[in-house]
Amino acid sequence: MSQLVIGLSGGIGSGKTTVSDLFAAFGIDVIDADLIARQVVEPGTLALSAIVEKLGSQVLNQQGELNRTQLRQLVFSDPSIKEWLNQLLHPLIRQQMKSQTLAAKSSYCILSMPLLVENKLTHMVDRVLIVDVSETTQLQRTVLRDKSNVEQISAIMSAQASRAERLAVADEVIENDGQASDLSEKVGQLHSYYMQLAARRNKVID
Ligand code: ADP
Repeated sequence: MSQLVIGLSGGIGSGKTTVSDLFAAFGIDVIDADLIARQVVEPGTLALSAIVEKLGSQVLNQQGELNRTQLRQLVFSDPSIKEWLNQLLHPLIRQQMKSQTLAAKSSYCILSMPLLVENKLTHMVDRVLIVDVSETTQLQRTVLRDKSNVEQISAIMSAQASRAERLAVADEVIENDGQASDLSEKVGQLHSYYMQLAARRNKVID
């Protein structure tokens, strides 16, 4: 069991996945809240049945999976649906995040939570690591990655927490406006630091 849980967050396109891949390359277990959010509504889950019961089979695609575009439209037209969905899904997601962090085997683990600040989840982690970039870089990289347009990505960015709000809860910050190659060195330094912290914790606990 990892004694130390690092919450990793940052805005859309800031570089969270790139950073968590680098931690994983050091053998660190990475738990991904986005992946869990998809798993809890996979076909056959109780949560998906509850959603179909409430909103009808219009929310399913032909394969019987959740049709996210359709769901987004329903949520957009009726905010009470969003509230209902959050009450159904957030506890399930949190439970999974908790059990996966408890099952982690590396000296410390990374819990990647894009909405850590928005959903006020700092209590779930021991330290917060924020990937920070300028809005210009964030917009450019996300538009390129998602083959999307500037308006769509700007709308997502303004619905998310601001840089200042994220930095206010950060214990460590990775500044990612530079080259991707700079990132491995920065992650390497943080990895050594977190290994030391984890070793110290283990000593106290032993
Ligand atoms: P997130 O997971 O936070 O949404 P990603 O890790 O997917 O962000 O990064 C967004 C995009 O920017 C990806 O296409 C990624 O390859 C690219 N990227 C990340 N860091 C850098 C960097 N330092 N330089 C150039 N491109 C980068």
